[in-house]
Amino acid sequence: MRTKYRLMTPGPAPIPPEVAAAAVLPLVHEHTPVFAELFAGVARDLQHVMGTANDVLLFAASGTGALEAAIQNLFSAGDRVLVASNGFFGDRLAAMCRAYGLDVAVLHGEWGRALDVEAVAAAVAADPAIGAVACVLSETSTGAVSDVRGLESAAGPALTIVDAMSAVGACELRADEWGLDVVIGGSAKALMGPPGVAFVSVSPRAWRRHRTARLPRYYFDWTTAREAAAGDVPRTSWTPPVSLLAQLAVALRQIRAEGLPDVLRRHVLLGRGARAGLRGMGLRLLAGDEDRNAAVTAAWTPGGVDGRELARTLVVEHGIQVAGGLGALEGRIVRIGHCGHFDLYDIVTAVAGLELALDALGHPVELGSGVRE
Ligand SMILES: *Cc1c(COP(=O)(O)O)cnc(C)c1O
Repeated sequence: MRTKYRLMTPGPAPIPPEVAAAAVLPLVHEHTPVFAELFAGVARDLQHVMGTANDVLLFAASGTGALEAAIQNLFSAGDRVLVASNGFFGDRLAAMCRAYGLDVAVLHGEWGRALDVEAVAAAVAADPAIGAVACVLSETSTGAVSDVRGLESAAGPALTIVDAMSAVGACELRADEWGLDVVIGGSAKALMGPPGVAFVSVSPRAWRRHRTARLPRYYFDWTTAREAAAGDVPRTSWTPPVSLLAQLAVALRQIRAEGLPDVLRRHVLLGRGARAGLRGMGLRLLAGDEDRNAAVTAAWTPGGVDGRELARTLVVEHGIQVAGGLGALEGRIVRIGHCGHFDLYDIVTAVAGLELALDALGHPVELGSGVRE
């Protein structure tokens, strides 16, 4: 029986052994200074990786929980929002807004391409009812990372909401400098933590909007979360996921020790390595061969090869877990996640495994052609 598996997916992503070990430490109670220090440290480190001095609120949830929370806390039924979508997660964001009764306009961008911020500006200018613009910074479904520096001016008076789930800790993110009002992330991608902690940064402007928002909310109420975090003993609104936070604290400390600029540079190198490897074995990349696409690399599966079959062969025969396509891309692409605890040897391993798996599935590859790159 195989006992060694390599996780090469964009969430959950591998966690360092020190992070795994932190899960077994004794639980601490949430009303103690020990927990308060742990909690405040995590919030502070999250501000650092997001480039913000705004409040960062934490929730026990997968990333989607914090996305849903943002909708509940910012809007009333019927509010008009623009979702700029260039992939599966952008479309999902629009679906979530619709589920809450918002009046959603979707600006469709090509999957695999960065968002067109000028088109966002035109859409907002043409429709003054739009009160918020939401988009995804790193489209995990395609690997395309957008340049959202112009989003603030494109959005004008509308709030800017960014799903930065696979971007936080992998891609440049300067929430305050770029004027992003609400930025959402999760623990289980580039931050090298276990799944289960989601977070959001909230600008003063977004807090003002929050006060007039009328959608029902309780578990994820930002006001409750802010009061709990700002109390004498800072904590989450409800029973905190103590072990997960202890693990995330260790992971964030490692990021701080490596240094955020070096962490981001490492991700650029990982992206370059993955793209070179996939191209080297003759695969066509889904997103551009650009340094900014540093979190995930996706390639079309070659003719006749089913992406699901390819991923299955990789995990069964080689113990390498990669991701397939989401939504319309299901079965048509293969995705290598490299946000978080990865180095270039992980990429080489994934590329070598892919060569062997493609070969086994009857697609001619010159073995070593990807690894060599
Ligand atoms: C992973 C991801 C999500 C969803 O996160 P969950 O942790 O699965 O809830 C949302 N958006 C993007 C861009 C993601 O990569």
